[in-house]
Amino acid sequence: MPQILDGAVVRDRILADLRPRIQRLVRPPGLAVVLVGHDPASEIYVRTKTRTCTELGIYSERSAPPDSVSTEELLEVIADLNRRPEIDAILVQMPLPKQVDVRRVLEAVAPEKDADGFHPINVGYLVSGRPAPRACTPAGIMEMLRHYRIQTEGRNAVVLGRSDIVGKPMALMLLHAHATVTVCHSRTVNLSEECRRADILVAAIGKPAMVTSDFIAPGATVIDVGMNRVADRLEAVRLGKAEEFERKGSVLVGDVHPLDVEHAAAAYTRVPGGVGPLTIGMLMSNTVMLSEQRQSQH
Ligand code: NDP
Repeated sequence: MPQILDGAVVRDRILADLRPRIQRLVRPPGLAVVLVGHDPASEIYVRTKTRTCTELGIYSERSAPPDSVSTEELLEVIADLNRRPEIDAILVQMPLPKQVDVRRVLEAVAPEKDADGFHPINVGYLVSGRPAPRACTPAGIMEMLRHYRIQTEGRNAVVLGRSDIVGKPMALMLLHAHATVTVCHSRTVNLSEECRRADILVAAIGKPAMVTSDFIAPGATVIDVGMNRVADRLEAVRLGKAEEFERKGSVLVGDVHPLDVEHAAAAYTRVPGGVGPLTIGMLMSNTVMLSEQRQSQH
């Protein structure tokens, strides 16, 4: 039987490790979330993030500019959060509306308050292996590999996807952990063959169930980052999710085929319950680390 890598277990351990660190601080860490508009999925993510803050004793607040917000207005919101001493970490929830210049907004967040590790200075620190807030999803995956004692050193890791928020930072973190890393993307030739070379395969492409058994080497560890909503009944049935479809009218599917992975992999994450909880855990971890740094300087 393959091993199921449970994201909730790892998240709970991350949060448990943070509690005593929070108690040692003079004031609670402060996280500000900027949520533009009313995207239902983003609202759910932000609610989960602020609920976790409350449970841990982290102060959190939400700015909610309207969908029509301009880049300049958003920059003002961020400048204000950068100035406020009780705010240690700022998260700008993606996606942002089309009229907003995402790059300018992310670069406006002070690097020492960058909850997501997306600021170019922190990306540079990741490249050179220096301490800094790291992108939450790949950092959570590294925690998971450590928790389940999945060896990275000397092993072949294949990262499927090269986005700035998942694929690229994931590849760098695996490289720092001494894996031999291959990054695949939409122009990769012989994709399934490349993936079959992986001892550790991380799929982050946003394509429901695209990674089938011919992508997976026997004995591989498969980490599924994808979160895709499938509203087609036949497709849901084909993926073994008929019962969930009847209840909800759609199903959440990763980038990895949920039935194929059970047969092909030695260890794997499920969707939901795999990578998602880790992202929240690492957001809390970044917030506490940034607060410790700021409070130790004052
Ligand atoms: P992006 O759309 O930014 O990037 C997707 C990447 O996948 C790109 O590099 C793209 O290649 C590559 N790709 C797309 N189609 C193919 C294909 N057919 N074959 C090979 N490569 C392909 O996505 P994100 O990285 O932001 O997210 C990926 C998935 O992870 C999504 O489902 C997202 O919802 C999920 N996610 C989940 C999180 C969690 O907490 N669980 C957090 C963040 C994301 P190219 O660069 O050539 O276009």
